[in-house]
Amino acid sequence: MSDLTLVLAQQCVSNRSHSVDVPSDSSGGSYTVVTGDERTEPFCTCKWFKFNKPELCKHIKRVAAKLCRWHAMYSTEPQSEGDKEAMLCPACGGSTEWVQVAV
Ligand SMILES: [Zn+2]
Ligand SMILES: [Zn+2]
Repeated sequence: MSDLTLVLAQQCVSNRSHSVDVPSDSSGGSYTVVTGDERTEPFCTCKWFKFNKPELCKHIKRVAAKLCRWHAMYSTEPQSEGDKEAMLCPACGGSTEWVQVAV
């Protein structure tokens, strides 16, 4: 028997791994950054990252700095009952989702 208890909590959808296009500083093209989550590492399609990973490239850092990552269990911003009903993130105003958290 596991002694873990699962509870439901809301988190900002920015916690979920998703991809973001980041314009290149030099070429006028763009790179794709995958933000990663607790199970997957962040990833970028640039050459620098290819040769230097797992060190994070500037594109991943730039995207990570803008991520909200609010989580009801770990963040300090309280979520109002209204936001909870409407599933709104109190930190960025974006959407939230229900996730299971082991406590
Ligand atoms: Zn990169
Ligand atoms: Zn948020």
